[in-house]
Parts: sequence; C-alpha cells; structure tokens
Amino acid sequence: METFVYKTHAMRIRFQRGCRSRVAEEADLLGLEKVMVLSTPEQENQAAEISDALGYRSAGVLAVARMHTPTDVTERAVDSLSRAGADGTVSIGGGSTIGLGKAIALRTNIPQIAIPTTYAGSEMTSILGQTKDGVKSTLRDARVIPACVLYDVECTLTLPSAASSNSGLNAIAHAVEGLYSQDRNPISKLQCIDAVRTLVDALPVVARKPDDIEARQKAQYGAFLCGLALGQSGMALHHKLCHVLGGAFDLPHAETHAVVLPYAAEFNADAEGLEPIRQLFGDAGIGAGFWEFARLLGAPSSLAEIGMPEDGIERAADLAVASPYWNPRSFDRSDMLILIRAAFDGARPAN
Ligand code: NAD
Repeated sequence: METFVYKTHAMRIRFQRGCRSRVAEEADLLGLEKVMVLSTPEQENQAAEISDALGYRSAGVLAVARMHTPTDVTERAVDSLSRAGADGTVSIGGGSTIGLGKAIALRTNIPQIAIPTTYAGSEMTSILGQTKDGVKSTLRDARVIPACVLYDVECTLTLPSAASSNSGLNAIAHAVEGLYSQDRNPISKLQCIDAVRTLVDALPVVARKPDDIEARQKAQYGAFLCGLALGQSGMALHHKLCHVLGGAFDLPHAETHAVVLPYAAEFNADAEGLEPIRQLFGDAGIGAGFWEFARLLGAPSSLAEIGMPEDGIERAADLAVASPYWNPRSFDRSDMLILIRAAFDGARPAN
C-alpha cells in the first residue's frame, strides 16, 4: 500500500437541481444575517434571483466581479460590504466571481457560499489569483475556501455552448495534472479518473444540446471532481504554461487551457499515473486524443486563434523556464519552444 497525505477542509456541498432556492437555509446554517450577493455585470439577473431567495437576509447585489480579480475592485467591494453591514457573501458565477468572494474573505474572514455556473472549479480550492497594477500573483490560503457550495445544474444552462466546451476542457486539465501530481493519493486518483471519464462523456452532448439537463449534470459533477483535484494536488507544466501565456498576452482563461491541454498532456504522456488516459484514447495517443476531442467540441484550435502574437513565442518559452517548478518530465527552453510553436499553429500532436 502506498503512503500518502490526504488534505481536506470542512465544507458543505449540496449537489442538487434547483438547490439555489435553498440559499437562505444554507445562510442560516452558517449563522449569517446580512448577505451580499456577488456576480459579474453579465450575471446580475441571476444574482438578483439569489437576492430574492435570501429575503430579509439579503444585503443586495454587487455585480462588479471581473476577470483576474483586480485588487482595486476587491477593495471597493469590501467597503460596500462594510457600509451594508454584510456578514457573508454568496458568489454566483464562474471563477471570476468566486475569485472576488475569495478575495473578500481573505481580507475580512467572512464566510462565503459559492454557486458555480461554469466548470472552472475555483469553488473547491484554496487558491486565489489577484491582479494589482496589471501583475497577477497567486496564493494558497485556507481562509479563501467557501464554507458552502451549491451545485445547481440550472445555473449552468445559460452558459453558451462554446464557453461550456472551453470551461470543460479547463476542468479536464486539472484532473489530468492531478493524475501525475507529486502529491497525488489513492483517493485523488479515483476522483481524477472518474472526472475525466465523466467529462469526456458529457461535454460532446452539452456542446450539441446545451439545455440537456442530464448531460449538464454529469458535466457539473465531473467539474466538481476536477476542482477537488486542483485543490488537493500540486499542478505542473500545463497550468504553469497557461499562467504564463494568459499573463504575458492577456489571453482568455478557459480558451488558453482548452488549446494547451493536448500539447502539455502529450509532453507528459509517459508520466506514471496517466495509464487510465492512455487507455481512454488507445492508439491515437493522449495528445492527439485530446486534440480530436477539443475539435469535436468546437474549441479554439490554436494560440494564434485566441490572440497570441507570433513574435511572443520566444518570450513565452523564456517565461516557461524562468523559475523552476516540478513536472513529471524535465524540460528545457528548446522543448518549450517546440511545444508553444505547435500550440500556436494548432498542429495535431504526434505520439
Ligand atoms: P468567468 O467567471 O470569467 O466567466 C466568463 C464570463 O461568462 C463572464 O462574463 C461570466 O459572467 C459569464 N458566465 C459564467 N457563467 C455563466 C452562465 N452560466 N451563463 C451565462 N454567462 C455565464 O470564467 P471562468 O472560466 O469560470 O473563470 C476564469 C477565472 O477564474 C480566471 O481569472 C481564473 O484565473 C480563475 N480561476 C481560479 C481558480 C482557482 O482555484 N483560484 C480555478 C479556476 C479558475
């Protein structure tokens, strides 16, 4: 039997269609009296519905969340919460809104309820990325973990087909890296395998029929498992590359993950732990398997397509090797140049 360390945090997770209507009950369980609902401007209507469900406990809606959690937005939000006398938050949205809830919790220690509406998985992690003066930094802190997560499939139905595919591929990348992570353990491996299989089954249906409740529920369950993997296990090359590319060229988060997945997975294809994924794609190989899967979903096919400049390839390779980090396979700058060039062109990975 292998030895391992299994980390866990106290959270309450409700996975149930329609459970957003029980948000007041969850707020009561946490002892909250005045709760601010957070969202992006685009999801203000969904936030207003949650505010109504909270009834007299609602402190209103703050629809100010933005990508990459800018600290000035957070600081203004903390002021608004303080003026409203709020003692808790509900974040309804994707990683950007949940990021704002986490950033507020870091500064105030107030409990959060998260209602995820994408597959990014931030609600299950102690990770917070924040941007100050255009520079993004990431921390891990147990204070940012939501006290309660409500997985209500109905909140994901409005996520457009393309965004669902990209977000689902973003989720799969967490589980793939979880499988070979340095601190993987028997439980996380089971979760990661089930996560990838569930999402590989569900996402093509979601892409074709975004209102298919059963497929949406499977995708959401897979994404929950992927979020657990991201929270429990250290990530490697794939996440580092996406961080570098997103930061250096302001590329969209989920799309960057969707494009990079086949290339990073192929680079690490022989890693111990990836056997279930090798079986999943058979002779095609892991990289080509994910490349074809991404095309089936209609995901963007190259870094060029999502806005990376060609003259950024050299810089990206420099940044990818600038600070050492763990990966199951060692690499140097020339490996990164080849990988990033292939992802820039959208070439089919060869195994
Ligand atoms: P997002 O939260 O930025 O959402 C993108 C857009 O889609 C927004 O306009 C949002 O309002 C909209 N949207 C979301 N769900 C919707 C729905 N159901 N219907 C209609 N519109 C919807 O996207 P994301 O990919 O979930 O999050 C990306 C951000 O989250 C990045 O900043 C990333 O760094 C962060 N993130 C953090 C972690 C972590 O553990 N800290 C994990 C994953 C992602």
